[in-house]
Amino acid sequence: MTKNSSNIMALAPNTSNKRETVCIFGTGDFGRALGQKMIQSGYPVVFGSRSLRTSSLIPKEAEVLSHAEAAQKAAIIIMAIQRQHYDFLTPLAEILRGKVLVDVSNNLKINQYPESNAEYLAQLVPGAKVVKAFNTVSAWVLQSGTLDASRQVFVCGDDMEAKQMVMDIVHALGLTPLDQGSLLAAQEIENYPLQLFPMWKFPIFLSLGLTAFFFFYCLIRDVIYSYVYENKDFSFFLAISIPNRICPVVALILLGLVYLPGVLAAIVQLYRGTKYRRFPDWLDKWMLCRKQLGLVALAFAFLHVFYTLIIPIRYYVRWRTEDRIISKALNNKTDPFNNTNGWLSDSYLALGILGFFFFVLLGITSLPSVSNSVNWREFRFVQSKLGYLTLILCTAHTLVYGGKRFLSPSSYRWYLPNIYMLSLIVPCIVLVLKFVLIFPCLDKQLTQIRQGWERNPRYSEQSNYIINKSAV
Ligand code: NAP
Repeated sequence: MTKNSSNIMALAPNTSNKRETVCIFGTGDFGRALGQKMIQSGYPVVFGSRSLRTSSLIPKEAEVLSHAEAAQKAAIIIMAIQRQHYDFLTPLAEILRGKVLVDVSNNLKINQYPESNAEYLAQLVPGAKVVKAFNTVSAWVLQSGTLDASRQVFVCGDDMEAKQMVMDIVHALGLTPLDQGSLLAAQEIENYPLQLFPMWKFPIFLSLGLTAFFFFYCLIRDVIYSYVYENKDFSFFLAISIPNRICPVVALILLGLVYLPGVLAAIVQLYRGTKYRRFPDWLDKWMLCRKQLGLVALAFAFLHVFYTLIIPIRYYVRWRTEDRIISKALNNKTDPFNNTNGWLSDSYLALGILGFFFFVLLGITSLPSVSNSVNWREFRFVQSKLGYLTLILCTAHTLVYGGKRFLSPSSYRWYLPNIYMLSLIVPCIVLVLKFVLIFPCLDKQLTQIRQGWERNPRYSEQSNYIINKSAV
């Protein structure tokens, strides 16, 4: 195996302050944007192109050469070319031997090819050290400098030295390299930019589904019923009253659903007597999107707070209050102060305020900047202990709101209970199950299981089962 002298020269450690030349194959959008950014960061850049005619779009500090000439000038070659054109590299195999080839390519569909583009490149040029990087950064972002949303650059590759060289460049460009391991990770990295909020899909569709369901439920119960039986037109309820009923209900159900999978996971572990078995897929996926579920729930809670704050300025509310006062004055009637009602009303509001406060605290601690600054125990304390406290406070807020109305026949129009009653089902199930699970006999066994103890030794032989630690 003969080594190209230019490769040896280029891979030698850089002892001066001057940065090493980087070669970019392809003078398209991404090649130019990356080239410009590299020049700004002090890297001499040489483009390898099919056409040697320089255009005004190509940074003027860069040289444009043929692929073969450009490749000889640098140890690192960035492939800013689509995968389907990689064939032209085959005749250059000897020149590319020992070089670091950086695959930046993306596909149009998830898992479009049987192997990742980077692995395909490694097969085409077996003598090169292929590294996958930069595919999660767009040309526009590189040019405009708006790097906040996409500062992270996933890097993977089989050659540690080559990967380190690429990560150094990523750093020098003001980006954050994230080592994802060997080239086997390339497929996942290539799929990443094609995903559209994968963890948000379930929470968003679920909340939209619940909102639509409760909207039609309230429409039937609060508007159509009143129209049919009382001949009253309450259609204006659609603007504020009904949304203000739906928001807290959806928020509470979603908050309950944040804690339900943890409880179910504990029951599964207790039943199996081991933690060394995968949870069913649906439970795994549910647990992975708990943060998103919680944040959507918080958004609904915020809406409830805003809707509630504007209640005093609503025409209907002002009219009803004035009407009651006037009719009392005309009838010369006064109501004595009811201490129980005073307590109920104040505790309902206090529970709501406290519940919302802890809910916001939970939301803040789930932000990466905050969660990165607390240790695992602190994070668990906030998300688990304060999370349950929030659930208890919000459930109690709804229960006190219901008060005596739970037993009143007027709460069941067309046999349909008020929606706040329905919202209590999930949180009450979660709280009852959690209450049962903290009984010392169960809690002790669960703690042992989570520390690795197994009831049935059959599972201990299957050590290759993935340990699912996400059940907290
Ligand atoms: P582009 O504007 O279409 O540029 C591709 C370049 O490839 C062309 O300008 C051409 O350069 C070269 N090329 C085209 N056909 C060729 C062939 N048959 N043989 C050899 N070279 C050929 O595409 P791009 O947006 O820059 O994307 C380039 C790569 O970067 C793609 O793999 C893409 O997935 C990846 N990427 C792009 C972005 C982005 O925001 N655009 C973001 C991340 C990753 P010459 O005329 O100089 O030969």
